[in-house]
Amino acid sequence: NGYADRLWPGLAEASVPVFSSVLASEPLPSELAARVMPGRQVLYESGLVTVYCRVDAAGRLVIGGRGPMRPSSDAASMGAVRRHAEHLWPELASVAWDYAWNGRVSITPDHLPKLHAPRAGLLIAYGYNGRGVALSTALGAHLAESLTGSVTTETLPLPVSDMKRIAFHRFWPIGVQGAIAASRFRQMIADLF
Ligand SMILES: Cc1cc2nc3c(=O)[nH]c(=O)nc-3n(C[C@H](O)[C@H](O)[C@H](O)COP(=O)(O)OP(=O)(O)OC[C@H]3O[C@@H](n4cnc5c(N)ncnc54)[C@H](O)[C@@H]3O)c2cc1C
Repeated sequence: NGYADRLWPGLAEASVPVFSSVLASEPLPSELAARVMPGRQVLYESGLVTVYCRVDAAGRLVIGGRGPMRPSSDAASMGAVRRHAEHLWPELASVAWDYAWNGRVSITPDHLPKLHAPRAGLLIAYGYNGRGVALSTALGAHLAESLTGSVTTETLPLPVSDMKRIAFHRFWPIGVQGAIAASRFRQMIADLF
């Protein structure tokens, strides 16, 4: 998925390995914990820049979004995620952020997952666009059935397509930072009206 390498020619260039950054706060003070998603819902924003969060069993707010486009476990490098948390719940300004981490998600040009069968007995699935925990697990069972011969690739739940390299792929960090900045600007304008 986001860590696709040279296992198959062109695979690494077929999607963009965007970093997703996560911050976990200290356990929230009880008064604040009672106000931040008190039903313990999971939130996933459909805005122009992806943000997702929940409060965990220890009462920490765990929030993810776009941060630096390099490996990092430094909360200070994830200011945009922290600011978004404080935008949603201003009281979080006084809260410490105990943990930070990030990792790569695989983004495809049309934001849809991809399934390829480049030769008999080989299937490639990736491009979950940051939503692969359930989808990759569910799809895995179907891929195994196809590889063991109990179903054919025609009956897989996703269409099998040809792998396509993304033009100018090596410049992805510049492109992604530009796209995020543009989306943040558009979101700021949209929020004004
Ligand atoms: C910070 C972050 C937050 C995320 N949040 C969410 C979320 O809230 N919800 C959601 O649905 N998705 C989320 N995702 C995306 C989700 O984690 C991925 O879509 C999903 O894990 C992809 O599953 P996969 O099985 O394709 O790949 P992976 O889970 O990456 O598994 C691939 C495995 O293959 C192994 N491997 C790689 N190369 C080789 C090799 N050459 N030989 C042998 N083994 C190899 C790796 O070690 C790894 O264990 C998040 C991702 C990140 C990084």
